[in-house]
Amino acid sequence: MYFLGTDYIVSSILWLLAIFAFVFTFRKQIKKLLYPQITLDPFISKLKTYTEKTYPDFKFDYTIIETSKSENNPELRKYMIADDMIDQFKRIQIDRSRYPKSTPKELQWSSYVFNCEPHRDKLPKDWMQRKNALFLREHRKCFRCSTYIDITTLHPKMIRSLKDGGKYYLENLIPLCGDCDKLLSDNPKKSSFLNIKDTIYQIVQNS
Ligand SMILES: [Zn+2]
Repeated sequence: MYFLGTDYIVSSILWLLAIFAFVFTFRKQIKKLLYPQITLDPFISKLKTYTEKTYPDFKFDYTIIETSKSENNPELRKYMIADDMIDQFKRIQIDRSRYPKSTPKELQWSSYVFNCEPHRDKLPKDWMQRKNALFLREHRKCFRCSTYIDITTLHPKMIRSLKDGGKYYLENLIPLCGDCDKLLSDNPKKSSFLNIKDTIYQIVQNS
């Protein structure tokens, strides 16, 4: 059997102690070398521009920018901030007090009332006209997150569903963007693919 000599063990311990003392003494300098002081300002500025322009009526809370300062790795910190924004988006609550109470007669058309009644699984014949009316009523914005939508990407959502007796009255419909439609759908898997996540992650990677 082979035994290490006492000298060897003592010198190894001394070396380890020396290395430990060195690391401890110069820990701040070492940290700077490992994580150079990369400023996150360009990233934060791009992120805020995106969130404020894309969701003009939703006030994101940016406290995470301060609270994440203890994270030394700038890349990890950017993802912490990004994920916080995405979580806030997922938690947006619809303001029910803004639900429309009625649709003025002058904004209705001749077949409007007749086509409000559901006919089996078919959409009303004037469905495009209804989508357009919703689009104009909400000033081209998603009812939940306030992002701008266009008529082709508008997802009408029933406040009271067909199975609960809901009808196609405009006051029972709100326009949603693709992301909000996914988040409010019955299929939670859909919500793992959100445009906001793709866009914010691109900002992380490109800044
Ligand atoms: Zn939305």
